[in-house]
Amino acid sequence: MSTPAPTPTIRRPSPQEIDALRKWLESQLNPWWRTGTPFSATFGWADIFAADNWHCIYCGRDLAESEDVLAESTEDHLVPQTLLTTGDAKAHTANNVAACCASCNGLKGPAVPEKDSPAWQSRAAYVTALRAYIDAERASRAAKYRVQAFKARAKRIWNKSDARQKDYL
Ligand SMILES: [Zn+2]
Repeated sequence: MSTPAPTPTIRRPSPQEIDALRKWLESQLNPWWRTGTPFSATFGWADIFAADNWHCIYCGRDLAESEDVLAESTEDHLVPQTLLTTGDAKAHTANNVAACCASCNGLKGPAVPEKDSPAWQSRAAYVTALRAYIDAERASRAAKYRVQAFKARAKRIWNKSDARQKDYL
């Protein structure tokens, strides 16, 4: 019977950890995040979005559902650019960039798997691990706002005449 793989730890590295992480990343030979088509005048965000079928790679949101959603969407650098400061443009490759909704990009922030985590071994493992992290961050944020959102909706229903918007609605 095989033991299930442990869930990788993902977090925002402290300023003290960033240097060590950068050195470790630089020491990796031909890693996935430095491969794939490099960005150029003829290869850009639209090609990345097309490769990801115009959906957020983390939550699956349809980024082409409207012009507003597309305008707010982002190109996520899977391995953050701040950790890849070797003075070259190699972080800006198809394999290190993905279509991402504004919400997931904000929740992800600078979080990365810990050094030596199995999540670094492939792009698929990395995306899967980050997706779980973003899901957990989203659930925790929802829990934080649930009570206030509920109270606000209840108040809005019962006190419509008290709302200051009544003067200009
Ligand atoms: Zn998303």
